[in-house]
Amino acid sequence: MTAQHAVVVDTVDKVFGTGERRVVALDKVSLTVAAGEFVSLIGPSGCGKSTLLRLLADLDEPSAGTITVFGKPAKQARIDQDYGIAFQQSGLLPWRTIAANVELPLEVHGVGKRERRERARELLELVGLADFLDKHPDQLSGGMQQRVAIARALAERPKLLLMDEPFGALDEMTREYLQGELVRICAETGAAVVFVTHSIPEAAFLSDRVVVMSPRPGRIRAVLETGFSSADRGAGMREDPSFFAAVTRVREALGAAHHEPEALGAAHDEPTPHAEPVA
Ligand code: ADP
Ligand code: MG
Repeated sequence: MTAQHAVVVDTVDKVFGTGERRVVALDKVSLTVAAGEFVSLIGPSGCGKSTLLRLLADLDEPSAGTITVFGKPAKQARIDQDYGIAFQQSGLLPWRTIAANVELPLEVHGVGKRERRERARELLELVGLADFLDKHPDQLSGGMQQRVAIARALAERPKLLLMDEPFGALDEMTREYLQGELVRICAETGAAVVFVTHSIPEAAFLSDRVVVMSPRPGRIRAVLETGFSSADRGAGMREDPSFFAAVTRVREALGAAHHEPEALGAAHDEPTPHAEPVA
């Protein structure tokens, strides 16, 4: 049954610290992501979105409950490189060329030089940066750097992408452009995506399902289906009443989650972004 599921999160708790410093970051979170499905996690700062993503990526372990990725324990999926990750900071190595950055995960896994170079070229074409192979990250804009990070995340043809506010640092126009690109890339690669965002329109535009979380303890409050297909997600969709309706539904669910009693008094401290190298 789990074979066609990209992700199964079963009754997961995550607790940080002890005594007075104890923080219940996730409380009995259960979630299933189908193969090829795009699922967003949305909620106020500190509700455990990044924590959940880090557990999926096996960068940390649940305090209770289980996580499987393509039917395997998260740890095995990490070893098998079953997913690519892209976070808010592109995490590109400044001394490497764009192509060499994209090649890095392949290099780490012993793929030969010629094959690596070919794959990097193909990926940079996919994200529209074929002319920038030999440039260095500081020669590219922030949006272009994020596209390189997405190309790198796709290097090993993962069937799952884990993305934590990948467009969070970008201006609105660049952000909308990259959202469109991501839709196209997902349609082409068939990858499932778990996507963390603060942005209501971003979640409504990209997602098959939007998971609305509430803070402290982080819980899933609502799961909304948008009903959009990748064919719907053209430029015109942003001006369509069906899109406004989806945005409104997400906003209302977020408001409802935020105004429950346990949400009161939740601090809005944003922890330092967890920039993780991809290798
Ligand atoms: P979000 O990504 O939704 O903003 P996080 O998942 O980063 O939230 O954090 C959820 C909660 O867990 C916050 O209260 C945060 O301070 C706490 N937290 C996250 N990582 C750690 C850690 N390594 N040690 C202690 N507390 C943490
Ligand atoms: Mg976060």
